[in-house]
Amino acid sequence: MKLHEPRPNELPLVVCPDGTILKCPTERELARRLRLYIELSADRVYDVAIVGAGPAGLACAVYAASEGLSVLVLDTHAFGGQAGASARIENYLGFPTGISGQALAGRAYVQAQKFGAEMVVPVEVTSLDCTCFPYALKLDCGVRISAKTVVIATGAKYRRPAIPELEKYEGRGIYYWVPPIEAALCGQEEVILVGGGNAAGQAIVFLANYAAHVHHLIRGPDLAKSMSKYLIDRIGALANVTLHPESEIVAIDGGEEGVSNVHLRNRKSGSMQTKSIRRIFLFVGADPNTGWLDNCGVKINDKGFVCTGLDLSPADYARLAYSTDDHYPLPLETSVPGVFAIGDARASSTKRVAAAVGEGAAAVAEVHTRLASQKTIKMA
Ligand SMILES: Cc1cc2nc3c(=O)[nH]c(=O)nc-3n(C[C@H](O)[C@H](O)[C@H](O)COP(=O)(O)OP(=O)(O)OC[C@H]3O[C@@H](n4cnc5c(N)ncnc54)[C@H](O)[C@@H]3O)c2cc1C
Repeated sequence: MKLHEPRPNELPLVVCPDGTILKCPTERELARRLRLYIELSADRVYDVAIVGAGPAGLACAVYAASEGLSVLVLDTHAFGGQAGASARIENYLGFPTGISGQALAGRAYVQAQKFGAEMVVPVEVTSLDCTCFPYALKLDCGVRISAKTVVIATGAKYRRPAIPELEKYEGRGIYYWVPPIEAALCGQEEVILVGGGNAAGQAIVFLANYAAHVHHLIRGPDLAKSMSKYLIDRIGALANVTLHPESEIVAIDGGEEGVSNVHLRNRKSGSMQTKSIRRIFLFVGADPNTGWLDNCGVKINDKGFVCTGLDLSPADYARLAYSTDDHYPLPLETSVPGVFAIGDARASSTKRVAAAVGEGAAAVAEVHTRLASQKTIKMA
């Protein structure tokens, strides 16, 4: 006997633990049912509002809530951020055989909840208002949230070159870093690495230890402008690396098993070639998720990352004064006192899970400092 006979427009069908059936629910309806989305009150003032539930935001939530602060965490998509997309994180301390990003994030989510952090997914923070105190966050659901301090943990999005069906192969032949396990599996294979920056250079030096051959694709004529000389020299000395200047991937063939062939084009001559390749490593940069901070007074650098601490001058940090001798930002504090930035969204940060987690923990000490000095707050 068929229990449910959904029409095509009612799919996907969700059968909830209590037997309720949701037909083609929106993400928010589903999240509400799973208690990931809770109704927010505009009347409450949180000690700290954390925007982004990637590793940085989750770590900040765990430490802030465990130290007795009232904490709200908001995320547009899901907890875990970019790390949540990683099939196996192998360089995170304490997990010698690796852990999936989802498993790590799931544990952190439960841990933050255990200490009393309120977490709401999916909800997008569309703007931050620093002209009032407490600060106000505008959400896409129409609610305005108030908080005495704000932590920006909105991370970054790895750039995806415009290659048809790229997403289909992510984690199955397309990688945005070099997972050691994939490097070890490259043994007898030729691989492609795309990108001309230092991160690409370091990855090539590492990959060349494993792969039979590394084809290094760059869009420009050479590496001189984008890579440090020492890396160019080291790569130049590697017999199993070939530089393909002015080259790009135009198409990928493959199937359920992943990538099988890659079609390359020389941008200058227009000539095409096809290579039998199973692994492609893309190092074409990342764009920070900081558009929501436009015109709020938080200083952003020319690449869109949030400036903090020593990246700021006293003049950048003059809008609000807590006390007469408080002219410098704390190391993770932005140009707006009491607004902090951590993880991949922060300029000069190390783009790693452990670094994001460390900054999340460190920011809480600074939040305490600001909450204490806010007792003497006066608007400039
Ligand atoms: C495929 C992949 C594999 C990786 N593997 C490793 C690895 O093995 N080891 C390692 O050390 N590093 C790895 N990295 C890098 C690592 O994942 C990042 O350095 C880390 O996730 C950064 O954490 P974060 O919290 O700063 O930002 P993110 O992880 O980017 O999280 C930011 C969160 O903010 C949310 N957000 C953005 N804008 C808004 C908004 N306006 N309102 C509300 N929420 C918002 C996003 O939805 C996201 O959940 C990997 C990255 C990728 C892409």
